[in-house]
Amino acid sequence: MQKIKMTTPLVEMDGDEMTRVLWQLIKDKLVLPFVDLKTEYYDLGLLSRNATEDQVTIDAANATKAYGVAVKCATITPNRQRMEEYPQLTEMWKSPNATIRSILDGTVFRTPITIENIKPAVRSWEKPITIARHAYGDVYKAVEIISDEPGECYLTFRAQSGAEQSVCIQQMDSSAIWLGQHNKDSSIRSFAKACFQYALDTGQDLWFSTKDTISKIYDGHFKKVFEDEFLNYASQFERMGIEYFYTLIDDAVARVVRSKGGFIWACKNYDGDVMSDMISSAFGSLAMMTSVLVSPDGKYEFEAAHGTVTRHYYRFLNGERTSTNPIATIFAWTGALKKRGELDSLPELQDFASALENACLDTLRNGVLTSDLAPLVEQGTDIKVVDSWQFIDTIAQAIAQR
Ligand code: NAP
Ligand code: MG
Repeated sequence: MQKIKMTTPLVEMDGDEMTRVLWQLIKDKLVLPFVDLKTEYYDLGLLSRNATEDQVTIDAANATKAYGVAVKCATITPNRQRMEEYPQLTEMWKSPNATIRSILDGTVFRTPITIENIKPAVRSWEKPITIARHAYGDVYKAVEIISDEPGECYLTFRAQSGAEQSVCIQQMDSSAIWLGQHNKDSSIRSFAKACFQYALDTGQDLWFSTKDTISKIYDGHFKKVFEDEFLNYASQFERMGIEYFYTLIDDAVARVVRSKGGFIWACKNYDGDVMSDMISSAFGSLAMMTSVLVSPDGKYEFEAAHGTVTRHYYRFLNGERTSTNPIATIFAWTGALKKRGELDSLPELQDFASALENACLDTLRNGVLTSDLAPLVEQGTDIKVVDSWQFIDTIAQAIAQR
């Protein structure tokens, strides 16, 4: 069989632990036999980041800027415990995702992968709901004070020009806690652009919610920036028959639960953190959630939403063939191949990526699945729980027979 040709390389970012094991397996069994794969390879495994003083992460992000499409494996973000586990680490390297996000100035979109025999906890949901989470500022870059005597607290902005604005937050007659947070106009604007662009790319309505009735200036500014930016997209939305819809966060929550799904819900940083966990668990599992970082100028980095599945990795190192779910990582590959095919006008590559996705879904529909999904499938489905190797082999057979 003739392998499908590619013209532009994918930026391939390898990662850590169990997902690194699955990564190689997916490439060997599901991609390389069918595609004449072109990638520019960056090893973002922890030891390679350490050996290059994290330069490899920066290089990978810059390559994504240059080529436009990347696929990334989950990676370890070192913490104190990891410093003990890997004594050779010279620094507690930053989260690669945070580094890549800041270089690409992107927004993260997370979408559950759904099949008929795994029903969402919310009965009305018929289609996936995608969360778009703003990834800069607010409470994540806040400063805080605790005070234990009467006094007053001010919020002061001192401009470079010397101008000054100041408001008294509160006069306090007892002990108290205080919080100062900020966001950048440019970051909110990029967020809005990425959301409108993604809605057009995927042909889905876009919802955006904040609490601008209470936070009239701060959240009010988010609402206004979205309104302003939408003017540049309105006619394209109309042509596509999709809608932009703003509502208060509490109203949005109520509407989401009563909806049929099938739209993008843009959330401020904290709302997105909370709501993406709600959406992923209500749809089934984190192992079935894809994630794509989209920059305002249309660069894409695809990955799974879950981590490196450390607990399974240590069982694997002890010789066990674990039943780790590779679906989200496979969909990171198909997402990237499809986008590359679209940008390079390679319909064969796009078709292959869709066929691979269908082979995954058909395998699950036939009841062949990894152990995490067993408790989630509808009663009455005949299931066969397999390990990751058997699961990927079953998918490979399905794709070869297409
Ligand atoms: P995790 O790797 O997502 O795993 C947490 C638990 O969720 C697993 O122990 C497993 O539960 C279940 N799980 C997750 N993905 C699964 C899959 N594909 N198949 C089956 N079960 C799955 O999160 P973590 O243990 O908190 O983090 C591990 C490492 O990943 C950390 O070093 C963290 O820094 C990193 N991380 C990276 C990213 C990223 O690169 N995007 C994101 C998050 C975390 P059971 O053990 O009960 O089976
Ligand atoms: Mg969270």
